[in-house]
Amino acid sequence: MIMSTHPTDDLLLHYVTGGLPRPFSVLVASHLAFCARCRVETERLEAVGGGLFVALEVRGEAESGLEALLARLDEPVPIEPPLPPSDAETSVRLPAPLRAFIRKPLKSLSWHEVLRGISIVDLASIKADGARARLVLTRRGLKVPRHIHDGTELTLVLSGGLTAEQGHFRRGDVMVVEPSVVHRPVMDDDEDCLCLAVTDGAVRFTGLIGRARQLLAGY
Ligand SMILES: [Zn+2]
Repeated sequence: MIMSTHPTDDLLLHYVTGGLPRPFSVLVASHLAFCARCRVETERLEAVGGGLFVALEVRGEAESGLEALLARLDEPVPIEPPLPPSDAETSVRLPAPLRAFIRKPLKSLSWHEVLRGISIVDLASIKADGARARLVLTRRGLKVPRHIHDGTELTLVLSGGLTAEQGHFRRGDVMVVEPSVVHRPVMDDDEDCLCLAVTDGAVRFTGLIGRARQLLAGY
């Protein structure tokens, strides 16, 4: 298994061409706020896309689909409404692309505890194209029950850290969990762990206790 703390090249490419469902593009944009390496890579991909378009145009071979796709790279960036003032914790924890959707202090969001030590907020404003985004706050030191994902899950760490089969992840890192991978993260001891989790499928707990809790919590 490839260990990485960044979105895959494929995800970055789809991000640049505007082909990602909104929850995934918000997560990638939030990662870019932390990661110079991926900012450089997205700029390179944008340049490659622009260069490809020019080459095809010179040869008179620009196809309408590709043309439309590449034209999107030149679209003006929409002007976002200014971010509302927030408390210090929220401003520190959430990068700007995420705060554009979460326009309230973290403490005033509708948290609910799905398992002991794990609370989530469903980010309905980011939900789109069958994919969903949630904030997940997990108590420091917690071992999350073993579970399996029906779809792809991307997790961006916003505070604290965790260790899973895929490696160790700290603030700004992205963990990619492919479908059908059995997954059992353990949280770092030093700080509670806040993550942005984006999924395009359900999460199933595989252990007996996990399944019972899942039924009770509707997770
Ligand atoms: Zn990166």
